[in-house]
Amino acid sequence: MAGTATEPTARTATTLADGRELIYYDSGAAVPRNAVDRRPLDPRPPASHVRRDPATGDWVTVAAHRQARTYQPPAEECPLCPSQDGRLSEIPAADYQVAVFENRFPSLAGPPGELTGGLRTAGPGAGRCEVVCFTADHDASFADLSEARARLVLDAWTDRTAALSALPGVEQVYCFENRGAEIGVTLAHPHGQIYAFPFTAPRTARMVARAAAHRTATGRNLFDDLLAAERADGERVVLAGEHWTAFVPFAARWPYEVHLYPHRRVPDLTALDEAERAEFPRLYLDLLRRFDRLFGTGRTPYISAWHQAPRDQRDELALHLELFTIRRTADKLKYLAGVESGMDAFVNDVSPEHAAQRLREVAR
Ligand SMILES: [Zn+2]
Repeated sequence: MAGTATEPTARTATTLADGRELIYYDSGAAVPRNAVDRRPLDPRPPASHVRRDPATGDWVTVAAHRQARTYQPPAEECPLCPSQDGRLSEIPAADYQVAVFENRFPSLAGPPGELTGGLRTAGPGAGRCEVVCFTADHDASFADLSEARARLVLDAWTDRTAALSALPGVEQVYCFENRGAEIGVTLAHPHGQIYAFPFTAPRTARMVARAAAHRTATGRNLFDDLLAAERADGERVVLAGEHWTAFVPFAARWPYEVHLYPHRRVPDLTALDEAERAEFPRLYLDLLRRFDRLFGTGRTPYISAWHQAPRDQRDELALHLELFTIRRTADKLKYLAGVESGMDAFVNDVSPEHAAQRLREVAR
């Protein structure tokens, strides 16, 4: 797997007491990772299923068992902290750098199966849901990580994208982070998630369709044109490096929303080259720290979403990261109400050009 020349990434896979996979990622000198999960765990929950809305074509996952999942436990019962002082968590080691494991209450799990047809298209909730722990430090945040640790997380995302993309029935791999109770985060420990979908996600499906239409109309790639136009214009560009540019999209849906693209179009994380991988941590950490400076309220709630090409649709969709907050002022959140939730039609209270200007101003 990918690592820098000076700090190779070690990958150690093990199994939790109920059979779920756990993988440690370590940079630098090799670390023995042989702690055993000694917890008596219940059997894994029943499988979910997916249904396709016949009116919109959107897929919906039905996962009723998730109602029982762990919800905002006190810090001393955090399941993502290392196992220490006799307290056993999801991670048997007494310390770790980055750890990835299968979600105990997954929305999606297991092998693919037959789909029913017609107006009631449905099938098994195949795929996988994983948790990515960014650090053993319960009180940290991604923005607090060193560049080396952010690079290790990038390596873990990349390794999991490759592994999950190879699973039968997986159509798309989605790495993301929810940060903040305002977003609905149920565990405070700094972590992200990975969903391996058995379908192409609705937002991705719309992008794939738009890219195909753009190709038909112009003969060019939609994302190449979009990135070139934003870089030439510059009004909505927040920051740029040698290999990546971050800008507020022209029709941003959220009060503060930034899209980060590599200059070279690639379908997913596995196709980034070493120069692109090396530059990413500095730019991404810079963006997260700017988000935290926007409102003078400390940690800004956000969603950070990697868009990766689905299986068999890798020619047009460009890997990029979409980072946005639901906070619009120091004391106001953007709620998805009738217009947004009812119609998927967003009303944004902050102009994208103003948002870009603010994000440039809070550089430090
Ligand atoms: Zn914790």
